[in-house]
Amino acid sequence: MADAPLLMIPGPIEISEAVFQATCARPPSHVAPGFIQAFGDALDTMREVWCAGPDATPFCVAGGGTLAMESAATNLVDRGERVLVVNTGYFGDRMAEMLRRRGADVVQVTAAVADTVPAEAVADALDANTFAAVFATHVDTSTGVRVDAEGIAAAAKKRGVLSCFDGVCATAGERFEMAAWGADVYLTASQKAIGLPAGLALWVASAAAMEKAASLKSPPPMTLDWNTWLPIMQAYQARRPSYFSTPATTLVPALQVGLRELVPVGSEGAMQKRFLAHQRAAEAMRAGWTSLGLSLVPTAPSHAAYTLSAIRYPDGVDSSVLGHIKAAGAIVAGGLHPAIKPTYFRVGHMGDVVGRPNALVSTVRAVAEGLNVVGYRCDVEEACQATASALSD
Ligand code: PMP
Repeated sequence: MADAPLLMIPGPIEISEAVFQATCARPPSHVAPGFIQAFGDALDTMREVWCAGPDATPFCVAGGGTLAMESAATNLVDRGERVLVVNTGYFGDRMAEMLRRRGADVVQVTAAVADTVPAEAVADALDANTFAAVFATHVDTSTGVRVDAEGIAAAAKKRGVLSCFDGVCATAGERFEMAAWGADVYLTASQKAIGLPAGLALWVASAAAMEKAASLKSPPPMTLDWNTWLPIMQAYQARRPSYFSTPATTLVPALQVGLRELVPVGSEGAMQKRFLAHQRAAEAMRAGWTSLGLSLVPTAPSHAAYTLSAIRYPDGVDSSVLGHIKAAGAIVAGGLHPAIKPTYFRVGHMGDVVGRPNALVSTVRAVAEGLNVVGYRCDVEEACQATASALSD
């Protein structure tokens, strides 16, 4: 039987063998000693993956990235407060809508499609008014555009404004140093560069963000309220059982396995190496796309994300190529941003595959073969060679 095609969409992604094995265990109780230990270890390890300080609070709740976004929108902002949304696409629109529903006065600084918003523009917007918080999408999965999270966090901090970053398509794949940069919230979900199946909402909040959540006049819905979850997270970190709502008892131990793959015990600079591995993988994929005569959606390479490639269809090609790419061995995704949806496709390259050159080269091969099937003539071997040699440099 032929191998299953590689899952190369921008999440969910291919997971490692160790994480897969961890998800195959019989489901434990949420108060089993082994589970309590794994939950506590996972929360501790999240701090390392987030490059967060000891005063930051990690949260792990059953759910997805959207739940993590909504928890941030409702815990950082009171009704009637003004917030700034740095909008670089589909997920910026979602965050703005959530904040509106929270009753916030939402001001946006919006990039042209496929462009980024420079940190200086965020600083200018913050100077134009008073804000309770700024929200930005680290990598917008719809266009593959990255923002300068370090610069935005610094601009917010300088002005005493809380900063929150949606890292769903970035966390553990793009450089992010929560403590050093002074960011207040970095949120994600398990199914992307964290390297797990879908099902966990994950975020880390700074002491200032926790203070804000504790002082709200209008509390969030109970299941989103950080103050509901805080004693639970604290209990598991103290290796004690606790209960508010049943945790995802199969996924949490797998999370600990996955996070430890990212930062092995005693490893120095593991996250920096991980970020570099994603950069290298992205550059190698781009060498393949360039060899095929394809161009990226982001308007400049400097803000093209390392976790995925958003690629324009060449003339005469449309989304019908996706099925042929799959038949050739890789599942990739269509466009997502409503303004340009039919004009491009997306290839994820994050998590376990960044350490698997064969998977990356096979993906370039599948794209090239699919393009040839629909009549776009390109040299498959040359593209594979371009990616392979970039990976071996
Ligand atoms: N933000 C970004 C940047 C995302 O890529 C996604 C998922 N594609 C989400 C939020 C929402 O995550 P979920 O689908 O897990 O709710």
